[in-house]
Amino acid sequence: MGVNVSSDIAKQYDTQAANNVDVVIVGAGFAGLYTLYNLRNQGLKVILLDAAGGVGGTWYWNRYPGVRVDIESMEYSYSFSEELQQEWSWSERYASQAELLRYLNHVADRFDLRKNICLNTRVAATVFDEKTDKWEVETDSGRKITASFCVMATGFLSAANQPKFPGMESFEGEQYHTARWPEGGVDFAGKRVGVIGTGSSGIQVISEIGSKVGHLNVFQRTASFSIPLRNCPMPKDYEKSFKENYPEWRRLQREESFGGYVSCNYKPVERLTQNAMDISPEERLAVYEDRYKSGGLSMYFNFPDVFVDKAANDTIADFLRGKIKERVNDPETAELLTPRGYPALVRRLCADTGYYETYNQDNVDLVDVSGGEIELTPKGIEVKGKEYELDCIIFATGYDALTGALTNIDIRGEGGRQLKEEWSDGPRTALGMMTAGFPNMFFLNGPGSPCPFYQPVLLGEEQGGWVGDWIMDMRAKGLTRMGAKKSFQNEWVEHSSEVVNATLFPLANSWYMGKNIPGKSSVGLVYFGEPADYRKRCANVLPSGYDGFELSGPQK
Ligand code: NAP
Repeated sequence: MGVNVSSDIAKQYDTQAANNVDVVIVGAGFAGLYTLYNLRNQGLKVILLDAAGGVGGTWYWNRYPGVRVDIESMEYSYSFSEELQQEWSWSERYASQAELLRYLNHVADRFDLRKNICLNTRVAATVFDEKTDKWEVETDSGRKITASFCVMATGFLSAANQPKFPGMESFEGEQYHTARWPEGGVDFAGKRVGVIGTGSSGIQVISEIGSKVGHLNVFQRTASFSIPLRNCPMPKDYEKSFKENYPEWRRLQREESFGGYVSCNYKPVERLTQNAMDISPEERLAVYEDRYKSGGLSMYFNFPDVFVDKAANDTIADFLRGKIKERVNDPETAELLTPRGYPALVRRLCADTGYYETYNQDNVDLVDVSGGEIELTPKGIEVKGKEYELDCIIFATGYDALTGALTNIDIRGEGGRQLKEEWSDGPRTALGMMTAGFPNMFFLNGPGSPCPFYQPVLLGEEQGGWVGDWIMDMRAKGLTRMGAKKSFQNEWVEHSSEVVNATLFPLANSWYMGKNIPGKSSVGLVYFGEPADYRKRCANVLPSGYDGFELSGPQK
């Protein structure tokens, strides 16, 4: 696919004035921008709305120190335009947030997307009109837009999780959340800083600011597994070989990868079929060392049984624990940083740049908050009866993943039912793309999809493509309503539950399982099956005559 924006289409309406469109897309991240490009190219009248002041989605808001992607840049990028793939040069193996934002802005300009984008526009509510088969979309400024279809590209890690700690209002210092970082940055020089949270975001911010602050207290509830990211300037020969073979890399990502990424030690990795428990400890160790040497998320390129067999998983967990000990000088701190009580890889593996070594600095202390309750006081944080005086607190407390960005909007479907209510016991979707009772609304990287295990940029492109195919086919047939059948949705949720229950993933308190948010249900959150199978099912919706979905034309 190349640049193919007809200027007639692009000029056909004024985005600020158009309140009657074919499609409203919510969210200007990777998935939303591609879908805008695709749908507009098909001649549809599209408006993309985003609450942010710029494009980029989660990469717009996540500007905290040290933030960068932990999937390789060459893979974490659009595949839809060969020209774009060839023209763009990533400066580092793992792109920083600033570079990702430059890329997404470049895409918005290069494909002339901005004329269809309304920024600083938060969608407050959407109501389905059963007489017209259209959505009435209302923004927080009161603007009303009527659309035949809504595409929710709201991001699966975008709604910040801000726990309500007692005493929050009393704290006299500064408070920041990694997912909503101030645009101008923050100067921490000489300050006493506290970080709550040691997931991927916490680990990045701690590693980056540790040497710059006066003093750092890290408040850890659960220790994470982390391996070195091994970021570096992009090796030119690697970039060249990637660009020469992009179709094959993309094929491997889509059809043969574990999670939509395939590069290990700068080569496409071969998927392991042998079990860890069927080979010698030495052979196993050689694979673990190889992945560790590659860095980043390469550890996920692993033996199939490590995800389903606790004994197999113990071998990799022990390997990773051993590496932590090697990196931390103080044995007591090393032990506190060592994850225990849950399997490796089933909470998202973290990838760090000097994280463990940060604790070897005199100005950095680890505070174990497990079994205690964090309270904010005017002067700092109190936990387990001890007060830590602080000038700033950083909440690296993650996201209300997958559902939060959707349930934060007052979405009303057939019979006026509210999506938030419908999903109160966990999100129920058909293929992660629609939910019964909410016709003509599609989710990209939504709950019930494999997005955390299938590179979200590629999944967003594919889902945006399927949505385009379905809409255009409906138009050609004079159909105005597409909805998921409840029976098919139930089958999908049941199948998803069976898949996850056969793995070790339920054994950890993770955002994959909804367990990072008190009271949240894990039902239907993530599809843990093979992404390649998932892709086939979605691609088959149209050829099968919309098996699992129901379609109808205008009401007489
Ligand atoms: P996260 O993995 O959910 O980590 C949140 C941290 O906050 C955990 O350590 C959690 O402790 C702690 N926390 C939450 N509520 C708490 C409370 N009430 N009291 C004490 N501690 C509390 O969130 P994240 O670090 O933002 O990462 C989320 C996901 O975003 C990652 O898994 C990854 O997929 C993505 N991400 C990627 C990158 C990258 O590409 N490099 C960077 C950042 C994020 P518990 O573990 O005990 O709950």
